[in-house]
Amino acid sequence: MKVSEKPCQCPDCLRFYREHDRLIRECPTLRQQQEINWAALQSFRTLSGRVLEDLQKQFNSISSNKTDDNLRSEKFDKKEQSITQVISDLENINAHLFSIEALMEKIFDVKVPDEIEDKFREFAGELAPDPLNIDRLRLNRLLHQTPDFPDK
Ligand SMILES: [Zn+2]
Repeated sequence: MKVSEKPCQCPDCLRFYREHDRLIRECPTLRQQQEINWAALQSFRTLSGRVLEDLQKQFNSISSNKTDDNLRSEKFDKKEQSITQVISDLENINAHLFSIEALMEKIFDVKVPDEIEDKFREFAGELAPDPLNIDRLRLNRLLHQTPDFPDK
């Protein structure tokens, strides 16, 4: 394997690999993958929707303060502008999440027989073995001994 083909080892990517493997390990069936992804999408929507609502309230109060106040300060305008930008970004995110939800619903209607779920489990064990299992630990030690994977 050439050096360039080695997966990136930056902290972000390492965190991603860990999360990726963890999700396979903890949700090793189609049913569980459907559930975890649905929950992740819905929690994302709930949280960003709530923040959006709050920002809209904040924006309205700034706007009404401004008209009451004859002092139309630059500080107000700046704040208003930045909130407007964030509101529009979050509205975009919510619109996309809504579209993803519609697509996901089709994926989540599918059910498979138990023997296929067993196959999912089997591959999950191969793809993302327990990080504390003895083979994985041995592999980690091996990687750490090569100069390409310096021990931190
Ligand atoms: Zn990376």
